[in-house]
Amino acid sequence: MKINIITLGCSKNLVDSEVLGTHLHKFKNKIIFDGEIDSGKIAIVNTCGFINDAKEESIETIMNLVQAKQEKSIEKIYVMGCLSERYKKDLISEIPEVDGFFGVNDLPEILSSLNADSKNILHGERLISTPSHYAFLKIAEGCNRQCAFCAIPMIRGNHISQPVENIVAEADYLTKNGVKELMLISQDLSYYGKDLYGEYHLRKLLDELVKVEKLEWLRLHYLYPTDFLEPVLDLMAQNPKICSYIDIPFQHISSKILKSMKRGHSEKSVRDLVDLFRKKVPDVALRTTMIVGYPGETDEDFRKLVDFVQQADFDRLGVFTYSEEEGTSAAKFKDDVSAELKQERLDEIMEIQSSISLKKNQEKIGKIFKVLIDREEQDYFVGRTEFDSPEVDNEVLIPKTKKLKTGLFYNVKINSAEEFDLIGEVE
Ligand code: SF4
Repeated sequence: MKINIITLGCSKNLVDSEVLGTHLHKFKNKIIFDGEIDSGKIAIVNTCGFINDAKEESIETIMNLVQAKQEKSIEKIYVMGCLSERYKKDLISEIPEVDGFFGVNDLPEILSSLNADSKNILHGERLISTPSHYAFLKIAEGCNRQCAFCAIPMIRGNHISQPVENIVAEADYLTKNGVKELMLISQDLSYYGKDLYGEYHLRKLLDELVKVEKLEWLRLHYLYPTDFLEPVLDLMAQNPKICSYIDIPFQHISSKILKSMKRGHSEKSVRDLVDLFRKKVPDVALRTTMIVGYPGETDEDFRKLVDFVQQADFDRLGVFTYSEEEGTSAAKFKDDVSAELKQERLDEIMEIQSSISLKKNQEKIGKIFKVLIDREEQDYFVGRTEFDSPEVDNEVLIPKTKKLKTGLFYNVKINSAEEFDLIGEVE
């Protein structure tokens, strides 16, 4: 059968879709990732249920598939992932055209609905939906933190780490099949191993992963601002395989707001951590995310955040407006910041960040960087430096003066800069 797996939401969902596709492929099915609505007789949508916007996008995708089924351009629809985990009962009664709803831990069930099973041990084997030279490597699922605004622990459950040997086997398999860059992901990378080995084990995992021969770049995503990151930073400073790149959501800087968010850290600990990162890994690119408009956020709290963003000089920054999520502890607070003011605050932070990003990009003019080519576009080859993660960060545009190959590294001299892009030529 031709099976179209549509993935919404985060990179963790993407890996779940790829694992499902790998098992289905073993049963002689042709797997398409994120194809057109009618590109497979069977459509599976891996949904996101994190915040309102994501839920709406998931419902819209399901309804488009229902229409395609009514028009007989597809035969079956299956829904999995976070939205389905969270609202299964309602969805079953509201959208009867769907042939099956599955949660986030229902791989055996969805496989048996498709006359397949997960008996085939993969030993790290995985079909990937990303360009063949990079892939996401999920080292754990679930989360043991209790951030007041977040529904993920309710959806994904407690933190469960993958054993080191399984992760290394997957990295080995993927790099032997052309992958050069791996993004290490989970809900909370910092907590890795605490459940399985009784200690924070991220450094020991990295010590094993850097031994994977064909691996060139290893990138750390979703770190949590806690106090044991030094051993990880030491290795990042020593080993060129680990990108000088840290993705660590701080969410806010006001200690009052951080306390209400149950983040377990304060303004001082965040500032100390940023200083530590820059002391240990001087060329590190820092990516973070912030939430504006959290219940009780006064203008004074917001000014603190503005000052911090101006001072901290993040390389990459994303901002979200607070979205009340039923069942979270923050949902009991009055959502007292208006939608307009939330948007105003988001816009103000992003304006500051755009000028910071431009300034930092201009500082790169005249310098030479190792660039991985991701794709070819009409007038440019598009790549990234080690300071940029795929799909979320800056890109390097290289005019087509000579033929470059996707998936290869080149030394590129930067000639000009824009807010979120660099322009250069191969040396
Ligand atoms: S660390 Fe906090 S924000 Fe992140 S998944 Fe866990 S509970 Fe949610």
